[in-house]
Amino acid sequence: MPGAPLIPAELSFVDGVPYSAAFGDVYHSADGGLAQARHVFLGGNRLPARWRERARFVILETGFGLGLNFLATWAAWRDDAHAAQRAPQLHYVAIEKHPFVVDDLWQLHALWPELAELSAALRAAWPPLVPGFHRLLLDEGRVVLTLVFGDIADCLPQIDAGVDAFYLDGFAPSKNPDMWSPDILMWLKRLAAPEATLATYTISAAVRRALTQAGFIWERAPGFGRKPEMLVAHFAPRWPIPPRRAAGARKAIVIGAGLAGSAVCERLAARGWRVTLIERHAHAAQEASGNLAGIAMPLLSKDDNLTSRLTRAAYLFTLHLWRRMGGIGRAFSGEACGVLQLAADAGDAQAQRDTAERWRYPAAYVQWLDADSAASLLDGERSLGGWLFPQGGWVRPASVCHALLAACHDRLTTHFGTSVARIERVDGIWQVYDNHGAMIDQAPTLVLANGTNATFLPQTKTLPLSAIRGQVTHLAAATLPVLPVVVCGEGYLTRPVEGADGVCCIGASYDFDDDPQLRRDSHEGNLARLAQILPHAAQGVRDAALAGRVGFRCVTPDRLPLVGALPDAALVIGGSRLRDVPRLPDVYGVLGYGSRGLIWASFAAELLASQLEGEPLPIEQELAAGLDPARFALKTHRRKGDAA
Ligand code: SAM
Repeated sequence: MPGAPLIPAELSFVDGVPYSAAFGDVYHSADGGLAQARHVFLGGNRLPARWRERARFVILETGFGLGLNFLATWAAWRDDAHAAQRAPQLHYVAIEKHPFVVDDLWQLHALWPELAELSAALRAAWPPLVPGFHRLLLDEGRVVLTLVFGDIADCLPQIDAGVDAFYLDGFAPSKNPDMWSPDILMWLKRLAAPEATLATYTISAAVRRALTQAGFIWERAPGFGRKPEMLVAHFAPRWPIPPRRAAGARKAIVIGAGLAGSAVCERLAARGWRVTLIERHAHAAQEASGNLAGIAMPLLSKDDNLTSRLTRAAYLFTLHLWRRMGGIGRAFSGEACGVLQLAADAGDAQAQRDTAERWRYPAAYVQWLDADSAASLLDGERSLGGWLFPQGGWVRPASVCHALLAACHDRLTTHFGTSVARIERVDGIWQVYDNHGAMIDQAPTLVLANGTNATFLPQTKTLPLSAIRGQVTHLAAATLPVLPVVVCGEGYLTRPVEGADGVCCIGASYDFDDDPQLRRDSHEGNLARLAQILPHAAQGVRDAALAGRVGFRCVTPDRLPLVGALPDAALVIGGSRLRDVPRLPDVYGVLGYGSRGLIWASFAAELLASQLEGEPLPIEQELAAGLDPARFALKTHRRKGDAA
């Protein structure tokens, strides 16, 4: 998806109806927005009656606007009068190029007091206005809103979903033809489930023609208010559509109880799966996730590259999920104190400033602080300035693991102190054996979340995973100035970690050996990095007693995780696309999180769970492809093809 900064909508009204000066059109009928939503979009798609047909119902809307159609749909879904028709889960995917800022939503929704409760819940979850997909779990996760911020031409091809009902609600085709072009409407064909329906208020001849070309049979229906007619349509594909994946028996075995595995357990249990978690250590979070503190922040780049987009999606989804769980510092240890990423040199400072300006990021996501503003935050310490991520912070990963596992309730069975020695597939079921030859459990689905240990199995020994040693230095808080934020650059300094004698963590070394012991040279490296970012603070620690911890980051060659179905190295790759790479049947990986397990874990688990359930994916197809575990095998295959 080519990047463009997001420009929020500008709120204005004409005769009390929300109006867009940019498009010269109103957001809804002057005869009533809520009644229009109910008549045109719900009624036109025969909702709620059709909800009953599916365990999960997927709606796709073009033009989220102020979210009135969404709120009307959610209200109908919650209405007790429709309880018998309610699908267990409602997925609502909505594209919007110019979203409203949250205060404007508040003002707009105030026009419909009956929507106050749902509006408040939506506004509480409303993401910062940055491009890309934003998955919001509402109503205890039964209503899943995937907001797709960007131009429809870029966004539609990135959506992976099987849509049961389309709401076409761009501004009038005469005022906003880009939203209704034959190319755009042709994409609906790729997204439509076999019995998909569609509704829109317009009866434009061009739209009717394009819908016919896209395989929809349309008819006129009585319109709303002063519009005598509207269009309703149903999908009539000329050949059968292959069914989307549907979860069979919802049972999985997850190997590894660090952040990656704990998050998968939580996301699957939330969908009603039974999960068996197997961990060779006696407790959760004993390896890389055992560090006292991890930092929650995204990565930014001038060109908003794949890594920036992925870490942004991961960071924002993680913050959303943590808020639902009770919040940092309440559901688990940590502080949402903000993270300041200091510029390394003058060139970097300029690049940071340019990036923040170019992408017009909202202050809730990131702010560029110049040298003086940074100094006032850092107790006078001089720097060249940096990016402040105000909602970021530090978190104790083990406490997150415990909170995630506790959220699984009785859907989780754990086997701690148990090593997996062998896996075997018998009649479509994976059997997992310990090192005494005894079967630990069996399930149709197997998820490997055990870092570099995943390569110990013969089926997965070719996965491109390696370990990088990271030593963290622990310093008594008294030896350092107490700063209000986590500070990072080449290295990082946390605030005092509660429950760990208030030590601050300084990290981390990046060593290519496998020494598990604490080493003086790694401590010195950490202190040198501290001196680089906070020279004044570093002076006080020269003679301090140094403690610490050694962990091993599991990394991939491109430093992005592996998330999804694992490739079967024993079989021949049949083409040049990811889908041509043969996969091990029902074996998935959530691996290679490097130093960013905190933000990858729940995000990747949501992606994997969505894949397993056949739900709309929470991110762009190209971002999901960037995490596909088969990407390295495919690259090698292509290289061989080029050489041949
Ligand atoms: N469905 C909305 C509701 O319930 O409040 C009202 C939608 S309003 C009629 C049309 C929306 O389409 C506007 O919010 C506008 O910003 C959005 N839009 C216009 N052009 C777009 C484009 N090219 N890509 C994505 N969204 C676009």
